[in-house]
Amino acid sequence: MTMERVAIVGGGPGGLMLARLLQLRGCLPTVFERDAHAGERPQGGSLDLHGETGQRAIRLAGLAAEFAAAARPEDQGDRLYDVDGSLLYDRDGQGDDRPEIDRTALRQILLESLAPGTVRWGSLVREIAPDAEGWTVAGDGFRARFDRVVGADGGWSRVRPLLSTAVPEYEGVTLVELGFDTERHPAVDALTGSGKMFAVGDNRALITQRNGHGHIRGYAGVRISEALAQDWRKLPPAQVRAALRQAFAGWAPSLTQVIDSGEIIAVRALHALPIGHRWDSRPGLTLLGDAAHLMSPFSGEGVNLALADAVDLADALGSGGWPAVSEFESVMAARGETAAEGAAQGLAGAFSSKGAAPVLEHYLERTLDPGA
Ligand SMILES: Cc1cc2nc3c(=O)[nH]c(=O)nc-3n(C[C@H](O)[C@H](O)[C@H](O)COP(=O)(O)OP(=O)(O)OC[C@H]3O[C@@H](n4cnc5c(N)ncnc54)[C@H](O)[C@@H]3O)c2cc1C
Repeated sequence: MTMERVAIVGGGPGGLMLARLLQLRGCLPTVFERDAHAGERPQGGSLDLHGETGQRAIRLAGLAAEFAAAARPEDQGDRLYDVDGSLLYDRDGQGDDRPEIDRTALRQILLESLAPGTVRWGSLVREIAPDAEGWTVAGDGFRARFDRVVGADGGWSRVRPLLSTAVPEYEGVTLVELGFDTERHPAVDALTGSGKMFAVGDNRALITQRNGHGHIRGYAGVRISEALAQDWRKLPPAQVRAALRQAFAGWAPSLTQVIDSGEIIAVRALHALPIGHRWDSRPGLTLLGDAAHLMSPFSGEGVNLALADAVDLADALGSGGWPAVSEFESVMAARGETAAEGAAQGLAGAFSSKGAAPVLEHYLERTLDPGA
């Protein structure tokens, strides 16, 4: 590969995977990451990597052994409860090929695979501007020139407006994220089973998911207005908990213990880019991952797409010419569109007036066809 100067804006899974794959081709990209250091903020919960996308990227990056050491194939189960606490579906997930890994562990594996100094921490990119020879990337206290710039900076990308007028829209559902440890919360541990549990009622859901190191992550999801979600973000945890208790009044105590006992971590209003988001290719500048196709987490595809994008973009950049990158953008858009349709359906199924029925139907279909 020619020694082009490549800037990657964003050190999430997509940006770091791209950096790794480019380095394997002899290129030395620079990753600009706004976090001050790798441990600055909790990276969130557990991610399942799929065979042909996330796991394939890991293999091509030469990181299969590191992944196997950190992954949790034993945590692929699914449970579904009704609001009265009845167990409607229970599958242990043994033999599935979507092993879970903590987001922090995945980031660490990718970071350790990179040449020292690849990531410039504490570098919030504020400006990307074209010039006669390429692009200038700048922020507080830094300014540098590059031949290619990749926006891997997530759903609220600062790179995207140079390519597209699309903005993420609120999807009508807000998740309150909760944390537990299994030692102090044995009842939540028992409720969760061997992976993930959903309890689904009228336009609301409680979710818990097993993470590594004896942690469980929970989500209380409700359909509320964006304005109310903004208000909740400003409330002290006790008031958020009180609002959730009201929203889940009448649910079985075995389920509402999730609200009562979890540590409130964040209020996340779910946003998505328009399904099928595309743009006219602009030489020297492109996007990958959530920056290109932010969707709700109800497809379970987000990180897998970001990693698959990194593989395809590394190939395209390696080919040298921009037509290959333009082709990558088309492939990425088509792949993102299919996943975004699935995510929208998943969200609509989990937050409907039909309660648990659509989720049960989805699980039963998947039992018959594990690829669905
Ligand atoms: C609650 C929740 C649960 C999820 N669960 C799953 C799941 O189970 N499975 C799954 O596949 N996906 C899941 N996702 C989606 C998944 O997290 C994303 O799709 C994935 O992280 C996208 O990776 P990315 O690298 O494109 O972007 P990100 O992970 O968003 O990384 C972007 C990076 O860019 C940095 N950055 C942003 N702006 C700038 C800037 N201007 N300058 C410098 N740096 C910047 C950020 O700090 C961040 O490190 C979930 C998402 C949420 C919200």
